[in-house]
Amino acid sequence: MTRTGTEKPAVHDHAACVEHAVASAVALCGRQGLNLTPVRRRVLEIVWRSHGPIGAYQILAELSKEREKAAPPTVYRALEFLVDAGLVHRIDSLNAFMGCDEPGHAHVAQFLVCRACHRVAEIDDPALHRALAEKSRAMGFRIEPTSLEIKGLCGECAEVAG
Ligand SMILES: [Zn+2]
Ligand SMILES: [Zn+2]
Ligand SMILES: [Zn+2]
Repeated sequence: MTRTGTEKPAVHDHAACVEHAVASAVALCGRQGLNLTPVRRRVLEIVWRSHGPIGAYQILAELSKEREKAAPPTVYRALEFLVDAGLVHRIDSLNAFMGCDEPGHAHVAQFLVCRACHRVAEIDDPALHRALAEKSRAMGFRIEPTSLEIKGLCGECAEVAG
């Protein structure tokens, strides 16, 4: 299942997306011996509430509705776990988090970030990654497994802007 945020139809079976994301997470954690605790799993579901980025405080607000002891460190620790496990990407420029469609393989994710509506689309193109890795290696620079964020306007916003 590939997600291209800006092209995602507005109406689709999103419950299936969430189910798929959680099932992949359970499988991946099982394979790697990682402990997907109930709170981590719940935070993952909240991140997957939409295909867009979500801030830590929004996640906390959501979690607080269900759990009395939901404190910021709980959310941050869960997010750290999910990011380290490759299940969630951190979008630095928006200070937000987004579920990864293709967890389970190490990738330097590339994101197209719309500066108007903050919609984010993930491009997972190994060719792009390879080109970047080769260039940086040639310059003696070692890239860390982080993400690359490219700013611009999504299709819809570009249309409005004319
Ligand atoms: Zn969906
Ligand atoms: Zn990803
Ligand atoms: Zn936009």
